[in-house]
Amino acid sequence: MRLVFLGTAAAEGYPAPFCTCPNCQRARELGGRNIRLRSSVLINDDLLIDFCDLVPAAAFYRVELSKVETLLITHNHADHLWAEQFFLHAHPFTRVPVPEMAVYAPRDAIERIRRLSERTPEEARYSLHPVSAGEHWTRGRYHFWAVRATHSTEEPLLYIIQDGEKKVFYSTDTGRYLPETWERIKEHTFDAVIIDETMGTIPTGPRSGHLGLDAVIEYRQLFAKEGLLRPGAHFIAHHFSHGANPSYEELVSLLGEHDIEVAYDGWRLEL
Ligand SMILES: [Zn+2]
Ligand SMILES: [Zn+2]
Ligand SMILES: [Zn+2]
Repeated sequence: MRLVFLGTAAAEGYPAPFCTCPNCQRARELGGRNIRLRSSVLINDDLLIDFCDLVPAAAFYRVELSKVETLLITHNHADHLWAEQFFLHAHPFTRVPVPEMAVYAPRDAIERIRRLSERTPEEARYSLHPVSAGEHWTRGRYHFWAVRATHSTEEPLLYIIQDGEKKVFYSTDTGRYLPETWERIKEHTFDAVIIDETMGTIPTGPRSGHLGLDAVIEYRQLFAKEGLLRPGAHFIAHHFSHGANPSYEELVSLLGEHDIEVAYDGWRLEL
Protein backbone atom coordinates (compact mmCIF):
# COMPACT_ATOMS: atom_id res chain seq x y z
CA MET A 1 0.00 0.00 0.00
CA ARG A 2 1.27 3.44 -0.93
CA LEU A 3 0.18 6.54 0.96
CA VAL A 4 0.68 10.15 -0.09
CA PHE A 5 -0.16 12.82 2.47
CA LEU A 6 -1.81 15.65 0.52
CA GLY A 7 -2.37 17.77 3.62
CA THR A 8 -1.71 17.44 7.36
CA ALA A 9 -3.19 20.61 8.92
CA ALA A 10 -6.38 21.36 10.79
CA ALA A 11 -9.12 23.53 9.27
CA GLU A 12 -7.15 26.80 9.22
CA GLY A 13 -4.06 25.42 7.44
CA TYR A 14 -0.60 25.94 8.89
CA PRO A 15 0.35 28.79 8.86
CA ALA A 16 -3.18 30.16 9.18
CA PRO A 17 -3.77 32.95 6.67
CA PHE A 18 -5.02 35.58 9.10
CA CYS A 19 -2.70 34.68 11.97
CA THR A 20 0.69 36.00 13.07
CA CYS A 21 1.03 33.93 16.26
CA PRO A 22 4.59 32.69 16.99
CA ASN A 23 3.83 29.24 15.54
CA CYS A 24 2.53 30.65 12.26
CA GLN A 25 5.39 33.14 11.99
CA ARG A 26 7.93 30.41 12.63
CA ALA A 27 6.34 28.21 9.97
CA ARG A 28 6.62 31.09 7.50
CA GLU A 29 10.31 31.52 8.37
CA LEU A 30 11.21 27.83 8.27
CA GLY A 31 9.02 26.66 5.38
CA GLY A 32 9.53 23.03 4.28
CA ARG A 33 7.68 20.52 6.44
CA ASN A 34 6.16 23.33 8.50
CA ILE A 35 3.84 24.34 5.67
CA ARG A 36 0.64 22.30 5.77
CA LEU A 37 -2.54 22.16 3.70
CA ARG A 38 -5.83 20.81 5.06
CA SER A 39 -5.76 17.05 5.79
CA SER A 40 -6.25 14.50 3.04
CA VAL A 41 -4.49 11.32 1.96
CA LEU A 42 -4.20 9.42 -1.33
CA ILE A 43 -3.88 5.62 -1.18
CA ASN A 44 -2.50 3.58 -4.12
CA ASP A 45 -3.46 6.25 -6.70
CA ASP A 46 -7.11 5.14 -6.71
CA LEU A 47 -8.47 5.88 -3.22
CA LEU A 48 -8.77 9.38 -1.82
CA ILE A 49 -9.76 10.34 1.71
CA ASP A 50 -11.33 13.78 2.11
CA PHE A 51 -11.71 16.49 -0.44
CA CYS A 52 -10.37 19.96 0.33
CA ASP A 53 -7.03 21.42 -0.81
CA LEU A 54 -6.69 19.26 -3.91
CA VAL A 55 -5.59 22.04 -6.26
CA PRO A 56 -2.57 23.20 -4.22
CA ALA A 57 -1.71 19.61 -3.27
CA ALA A 58 -1.69 18.49 -6.91
CA ALA A 59 0.52 21.43 -7.85
CA PHE A 60 2.96 21.45 -4.93
CA TYR A 61 3.29 17.71 -4.26
CA ARG A 62 3.13 16.59 -7.91
CA VAL A 63 0.31 14.14 -7.64
CA GLU A 64 -2.54 13.51 -10.01
CA LEU A 65 -5.89 12.12 -9.02
CA SER A 66 -7.14 10.92 -12.40
CA LYS A 67 -7.23 7.27 -11.28
CA VAL A 68 -9.28 7.83 -8.14
CA GLU A 69 -12.25 5.46 -8.12
CA THR A 70 -13.23 5.79 -4.48
CA LEU A 71 -13.55 8.87 -2.29
CA LEU A 72 -14.16 8.50 1.43
CA ILE A 73 -15.47 11.58 3.25
CA THR A 74 -14.95 11.49 6.99
CA HIS A 75 -17.41 14.19 7.99
CA ASN A 76 -19.36 17.27 7.14
CA HIS A 77 -16.77 19.99 7.83
CA ALA A 78 -15.51 22.21 5.03
CA ASP A 79 -11.84 21.34 5.61
CA HIS A 80 -12.72 17.72 4.73
CA LEU A 81 -15.40 18.31 2.15
CA TRP A 82 -15.21 21.28 -0.18
CA ALA A 83 -18.37 20.20 -1.95
CA GLU A 84 -18.31 22.98 -4.55
CA GLN A 85 -15.25 21.52 -6.26
CA PHE A 86 -16.74 18.37 -7.83
CA PHE A 87 -16.64 20.40 -11.05
CA LEU A 88 -12.90 19.59 -11.14
CA HIS A 89 -13.91 16.02 -12.02
CA ALA A 90 -15.84 17.14 -15.14
CA HIS A 91 -14.98 18.27 -18.65
CA PRO A 92 -13.39 20.73 -19.50
CA PHE A 93 -11.56 20.78 -16.13
CA THR A 94 -10.32 17.33 -16.86
CA ARG A 95 -9.55 16.61 -20.50
CA VAL A 96 -9.01 12.89 -20.05
CA PRO A 97 -11.61 10.19 -19.40
CA VAL A 98 -11.84 9.58 -15.66
CA PRO A 99 -13.39 6.58 -13.94
CA GLU A 100 -16.60 7.04 -12.03
CA MET A 101 -15.73 8.09 -8.49
CA ALA A 102 -17.83 6.38 -5.81
CA VAL A 103 -18.22 8.77 -2.87
CA TYR A 104 -18.87 7.17 0.52
CA ALA A 105 -19.86 9.63 3.21
CA PRO A 106 -22.14 10.06 6.20
CA ARG A 107 -25.67 11.29 5.35
CA ASP A 108 -25.13 14.88 6.43
CA ALA A 109 -22.07 15.10 4.17
CA ILE A 110 -24.01 13.58 1.25
CA GLU A 111 -26.62 16.30 1.78
CA ARG A 112 -23.90 18.93 1.66
CA ILE A 113 -22.70 17.61 -1.70
CA ARG A 114 -26.25 17.57 -3.09
CA ARG A 115 -26.77 21.15 -1.91
CA LEU A 116 -23.48 22.69 -2.97
CA SER A 117 -22.12 20.84 -6.00
CA GLU A 118 -23.06 22.71 -9.16
CA ARG A 119 -22.27 19.60 -11.17
CA THR A 120 -24.60 16.64 -10.97
CA PRO A 121 -23.26 13.12 -10.44
CA GLU A 122 -23.83 12.43 -14.15
CA GLU A 123 -21.95 15.55 -15.28
CA ALA A 124 -18.98 15.03 -12.97
CA ARG A 125 -18.97 11.22 -12.98
CA TYR A 126 -19.45 10.54 -9.29
CA SER A 127 -21.97 8.48 -7.36
CA LEU A 128 -23.13 9.06 -3.80
CA HIS A 129 -23.30 6.29 -1.20
CA PRO A 130 -24.35 7.13 2.35
CA VAL A 131 -22.60 5.03 4.99
CA SER A 132 -23.01 4.78 8.76
CA ALA A 133 -20.90 3.75 11.70
CA GLY A 134 -20.76 -0.03 12.01
CA GLU A 135 -21.00 -0.67 8.25
CA HIS A 136 -18.54 -2.83 6.34
CA TRP A 137 -18.42 -2.90 2.54
CA THR A 138 -16.11 -3.72 -0.34
CA ARG A 139 -15.22 -2.02 -3.59
CA GLY A 140 -12.66 -3.49 -5.96
CA ARG A 141 -9.81 -4.86 -3.92
CA TYR A 142 -10.67 -2.77 -0.87
CA HIS A 143 -12.51 -3.60 2.32
CA PHE A 144 -13.86 -0.67 4.33
CA TRP A 145 -15.21 -0.41 7.86
CA ALA A 146 -16.75 2.82 9.21
CA VAL A 147 -16.67 3.62 12.92
CA ARG A 148 -18.02 6.62 14.76
CA ALA A 149 -15.72 9.52 15.66
CA THR A 150 -16.12 11.78 18.69
CA HIS A 151 -16.60 15.07 16.86
CA SER A 152 -19.10 17.88 16.43
CA THR A 153 -20.95 16.96 13.21
CA GLU A 154 -24.09 14.83 12.97
CA GLU A 155 -22.34 11.57 12.07
CA PRO A 156 -18.55 11.90 11.99
CA LEU A 157 -16.80 8.75 10.72
CA LEU A 158 -13.38 7.17 10.86
CA TYR A 159 -12.37 4.54 8.33
CA ILE A 160 -10.49 1.25 8.52
CA ILE A 161 -9.18 0.33 5.08
CA GLN A 162 -7.69 -2.88 3.79
CA ASP A 163 -6.32 -3.18 0.25
CA GLY A 164 -5.85 -6.95 0.28
CA GLU A 165 -2.38 -6.66 1.78
CA LYS A 166 -2.25 -3.95 4.41
CA LYS A 167 -4.68 -2.40 6.83
CA VAL A 168 -4.75 1.23 7.93
CA PHE A 169 -6.93 3.22 10.31
CA TYR A 170 -7.63 6.79 9.23
CA SER A 171 -8.61 8.45 12.49
CA THR A 172 -8.85 12.18 11.85
CA ASP A 173 -11.03 14.69 13.68
CA THR A 174 -11.94 12.76 16.79
CA GLY A 175 -11.66 13.18 20.51
CA ARG A 176 -11.23 10.15 22.76
CA TYR A 177 -13.00 7.12 21.30
CA LEU A 178 -16.49 6.23 22.44
CA PRO A 179 -16.64 2.80 24.14
CA GLU A 180 -18.51 1.25 21.18
CA THR A 181 -15.95 2.70 18.75
CA TRP A 182 -13.05 1.27 20.73
CA GLU A 183 -14.73 -2.15 20.73
CA ARG A 184 -14.91 -2.07 16.92
CA ILE A 185 -11.33 -0.81 16.54
CA LYS A 186 -10.13 -3.74 18.65
CA GLU A 187 -11.52 -6.21 16.09
CA HIS A 188 -8.59 -5.26 13.79
CA THR A 189 -4.82 -5.06 13.70
CA PHE A 190 -3.06 -2.33 11.73
CA ASP A 191 -0.03 -1.62 9.57
CA ALA A 192 -0.62 2.09 10.07
CA VAL A 193 -2.72 4.30 12.32
CA ILE A 194 -3.10 7.93 11.25
CA ILE A 195 -4.43 9.81 14.25
CA ASP A 196 -5.73 13.30 14.98
CA GLU A 197 -3.25 15.49 16.88
CA THR A 198 -4.99 18.85 16.48
CA MET A 199 -4.59 20.25 19.97
CA GLY A 200 -0.84 19.99 20.55
CA THR A 201 0.16 20.83 24.11
CA ILE A 202 -3.41 21.61 25.22
CA PRO A 203 -4.58 18.78 27.53
CA THR A 204 -7.25 16.58 25.91
CA GLY A 205 -10.47 17.00 27.87
CA PRO A 206 -13.08 14.24 28.14
CA ARG A 207 -15.46 16.12 25.83
CA SER A 208 -12.91 17.39 23.32
CA GLY A 209 -13.63 16.76 19.63
CA HIS A 210 -9.91 16.46 18.91
CA LEU A 211 -6.82 14.93 20.50
CA GLY A 212 -3.67 16.56 21.83
CA LEU A 213 -0.17 15.21 22.35
CA ASP A 214 -1.12 13.67 25.71
CA ALA A 215 -3.95 11.53 24.30
CA VAL A 216 -2.03 10.55 21.16
CA ILE A 217 0.82 9.23 23.32
CA GLU A 218 -1.69 7.37 25.53
CA TYR A 219 -3.34 5.80 22.50
CA ARG A 220 0.02 4.74 21.05
CA GLN A 221 0.63 2.81 24.26
CA LEU A 222 -2.91 1.42 24.37
CA PHE A 223 -2.86 0.20 20.75
CA ALA A 224 0.43 -1.58 21.50
CA LYS A 225 -0.82 -3.03 24.79
CA GLU A 226 -3.97 -4.40 23.13
CA GLY A 227 -1.86 -5.99 20.37
CA LEU A 228 -3.44 -3.89 17.60
CA LEU A 229 -0.15 -2.89 15.93
CA ARG A 230 1.31 -5.35 13.45
CA PRO A 231 5.11 -5.77 13.30
CA GLY A 232 6.67 -2.59 11.90
CA ALA A 233 3.40 -0.66 12.16
CA HIS A 234 3.46 3.11 11.74
CA PHE A 235 1.64 5.26 14.30
CA ILE A 236 1.34 8.69 12.72
CA ALA A 237 0.10 12.00 14.11
CA HIS A 238 -1.54 14.50 11.72
CA HIS A 239 -4.20 17.28 11.44
CA PHE A 240 -2.07 19.84 13.27
CA SER A 241 -3.52 23.16 14.38
CA HIS A 242 -1.29 26.22 14.70
CA GLY A 243 -2.79 26.92 18.14
CA ALA A 244 -0.56 24.74 20.30
CA ASN A 245 1.57 22.69 17.91
CA PRO A 246 5.20 23.77 17.59
CA SER A 247 7.41 23.33 14.52
CA TYR A 248 7.80 20.03 12.67
CA GLU A 249 11.24 19.43 14.23
CA GLU A 250 9.94 20.06 17.74
CA LEU A 251 6.99 17.71 17.15
CA VAL A 252 9.42 15.05 15.97
CA SER A 253 11.38 15.35 19.20
CA LEU A 254 8.22 15.37 21.36
CA LEU A 255 6.65 12.35 19.65
CA GLY A 256 9.63 10.42 18.30
CA GLU A 257 10.60 9.05 21.71
CA HIS A 258 7.12 7.48 21.91
CA ASP A 259 7.49 5.80 18.50
CA ILE A 260 5.01 8.19 16.93
CA GLU A 261 5.77 9.65 13.52
CA VAL A 262 4.89 13.20 12.50
CA ALA A 263 3.12 13.47 9.15
CA TYR A 264 4.08 16.20 6.71
CA ASP A 265 2.68 17.30 3.39
CA GLY A 266 3.94 15.42 0.36
CA TRP A 267 5.13 12.45 2.44
CA ARG A 268 5.12 9.27 0.35
CA LEU A 269 4.96 6.23 2.58
CA GLU A 270 5.15 2.64 1.37
CA LEU A 271 3.70 0.06 3.75
ZN1 LIG B 1 -10.60 18.85 10.32
ZN1 LIG C 1 -1.18 31.09 14.19
ZN1 LIG D 1 -13.88 18.43 11.73
